[in-house]
Amino acid sequence: TGSTELKWDKAPCRFCGTGCSINVATKNGKVVATHGDIKSPVNRGLNCVKGYFLSKIMYGEDRLTQPLLRMKDGKYDKNGDFAPISWDAAFDIMAEKYKAALNTKGAGSIGMFGSGQWTVMEGYAAVKLMKAGFRTNHLEPNARHCMASAVGGFMRTFGIDEPMGCYDDFEAADAFVLWGSNMAEMHPILWTRLTDRRLSNPDVDVAVLSTYQHRSFDLADLPIIFEPQSDLAILNYIANYIIEKDKVNWEFVNKHTNFRRGVTDIGYGLRDEHPAQKAAKNAGNAKGSTPMTFAEFKEFVSEYTAEKTAEISGVGEAQLEKLAKLYADPNKKVMSLWTMGMNQHTRGVWANNLIYNIHLLTGKISTPGNSPFSLTGQPSACGTAREVGTFSHRLPADMVVANPKHRAYAEKIWKLPEGTVPPKPGYHAVLHNRKLKDGDLNVYWVQCNNNMQAAANINEEGFPGYRNPDNFIIVSDVYPTVTAQAGDLILPTAMWVEKEGAYGNAERRTQSWYQQVKAPGEAKSDMWQMVEFSKRFKINEVWPADLIAKQPELAEKTLYEVLFKNGNVDAYGLNEVPDDRLNDEAREFGFYIQKGLFEEYAAFGRDHGHDLAPYDRYHQERGLRWPVVDGVETKWRYREGSDPYVKAGKGFEFYGKPDGKAIIFALPYEAAPEVPDKEYDLWLSTGRVLEHWHSGSMTQRVPELHKAVPDALIYMHPQDAKKRGLRRGDEVKLTSRRGHINIRVETRGRNKPPQGLVFVPWFDAARLINKVTLDATDPISKQTDFKKCAVKVEKV
Ligand code: SF4
Repeated sequence: TGSTELKWDKAPCRFCGTGCSINVATKNGKVVATHGDIKSPVNRGLNCVKGYFLSKIMYGEDRLTQPLLRMKDGKYDKNGDFAPISWDAAFDIMAEKYKAALNTKGAGSIGMFGSGQWTVMEGYAAVKLMKAGFRTNHLEPNARHCMASAVGGFMRTFGIDEPMGCYDDFEAADAFVLWGSNMAEMHPILWTRLTDRRLSNPDVDVAVLSTYQHRSFDLADLPIIFEPQSDLAILNYIANYIIEKDKVNWEFVNKHTNFRRGVTDIGYGLRDEHPAQKAAKNAGNAKGSTPMTFAEFKEFVSEYTAEKTAEISGVGEAQLEKLAKLYADPNKKVMSLWTMGMNQHTRGVWANNLIYNIHLLTGKISTPGNSPFSLTGQPSACGTAREVGTFSHRLPADMVVANPKHRAYAEKIWKLPEGTVPPKPGYHAVLHNRKLKDGDLNVYWVQCNNNMQAAANINEEGFPGYRNPDNFIIVSDVYPTVTAQAGDLILPTAMWVEKEGAYGNAERRTQSWYQQVKAPGEAKSDMWQMVEFSKRFKINEVWPADLIAKQPELAEKTLYEVLFKNGNVDAYGLNEVPDDRLNDEAREFGFYIQKGLFEEYAAFGRDHGHDLAPYDRYHQERGLRWPVVDGVETKWRYREGSDPYVKAGKGFEFYGKPDGKAIIFALPYEAAPEVPDKEYDLWLSTGRVLEHWHSGSMTQRVPELHKAVPDALIYMHPQDAKKRGLRRGDEVKLTSRRGHINIRVETRGRNKPPQGLVFVPWFDAARLINKVTLDATDPISKQTDFKKCAVKVEKV
């Protein structure tokens, strides 16, 4: 790595959940080039424009290289300026704040926010540190804003998280249906596979559904613009059509499904619900989840006629029928694809369940090309955020803190006394911000996340919590993001190939990489920060006496010794780290910590449907799709012959459910919690652009990407602009009930909203659109709806 010769190695891309395989070249201790691996089964040599510039993301001029604390007169001061301090001093003040919080209010006043950008090992270390070490479940990943509804959908329908299909479905499907997804910009490499399939097979159909027109519409055979929230009605219409036209796959439905009335939970989690939001709620929706017959289900969906659905959705009846026919045609293999359009939805879990309904009714599932496929936004949204248990209600391998057997299982693997893990789920992400504002959470650590740009309603419910004088906010990041600048202590962080790690992508593929360069200055990985910090606490400083009494030998040990040097994690010595490899963390801790954490975590899933291969195998492969049983990965889950967990003679088996049957849910259309009215007369939808990844903290520092799209714009229909006396390029004030921003108008360009809707991307730190958005959440998943709220636009 200090060599002047180019040295090539492998890594997955740092950005999206596609998980493209990258070849990385280093020279003189720096990453100097990257390209897509032509041998990769994921991206076949391609990268999108973000991946193309991966070699530049680490070298922005304002890279953080030492801890920074807000100080005045040489001491910490909430209103002071950031000044450099040592790691020792940083951990000193952190330990002081943690201990003060533990002693006064208890572990419930400590929280942590991470993301699907953590490596598998980092997310797992966070789960152990918070749930077992500090004994608080107030741990959340940004996946709550991103994938929680997908998790809820999988768990309710199948009892196990993550897609049953894989990317091989792109080459086998006869029809693709994009539900609110703009794959052309958000998953461009998968879009190339879909495009290849479409262009080389004239009979293949592509349907694109969205609330506004975007680049994916360029390939659409069936372009559909629907009213926000009406996807729920369209999905029920399709189920109704399949039944009416006698296209139900009876053999499949009778053997492999149950029907249930699935409506549970009401309320959008808003602190103060506006009267319009209250009125929008479906009054009769608290029926619980109970069994129903097919006849009852048939009656339930019969309400969703073409006429009624057209009225709710604004989509013509002929278009609706064409869409339904794709699913109903027994000769068409259908791949449904979705991401945030479905998940960031006040009924995101329902929307996911309703997609599964139509695949289950037709038996179009778990076979090549028949694939309801939930895509992901973060590189390890699946592998880390979901699988290792970083949600406030979860434990590794789909287990949950509320289940005593699951807690006992975790405590046994971790060699900890029964009762260590608290049973009550912690606060969800939106509540984190509110509890900080209210002073219930006081010490808060944010890692690899830009939550003050990414969370909804940051004006009212974000910044006030971070700036609450009672609170101490620690932000670990690579650059001085909006979030870092809102905090009190900034920790400089090593990223991507500056450390060893593993990510899990959207098709259950786990990929690993070795450290390839050293981090700049004093930057350290998120994992090092957590593990090193754990040395500052003795068990008898953080646990109650009655818990310690169950294993008194732990009393004088540090959290580090109990959680990380525990006989499992440190079971792999430095002799297992290849001699020619950098691994600063392993050499510092004295054992192969990444392998130890990975293997301890893998113990949760082996023989439980989540089997991972031995750690070293991932260094030799371009990733493997779990479950990996007897060394063989699984492409399609739940189908005999493809999934080793399906018993012989079963055909299909949804083994996440006790009876092996998936559930078809009866779920209604329900209006959005905030809809345009006379004053706030436009819908606002937010999202991304191809050139920038999420909050833009990395891509905005790549000159080529920054110049390509320097500022966020408000995309408007020309008639909506004209009505307000606006021209392209005019600056406008965009206002909701929660805040406002100024932004320039775009009436042409890549996004073309219909009249009555505007679209704003959220990558731009200079125009924080999340000051405007509504923090309404799905009542089941607690995921925020960033796709619709009511706004007005005025000329400045
Ligand atoms: Fe592939 Fe996504 Fe990276 Fe683009 S951003 S190269 S699509 S993983």
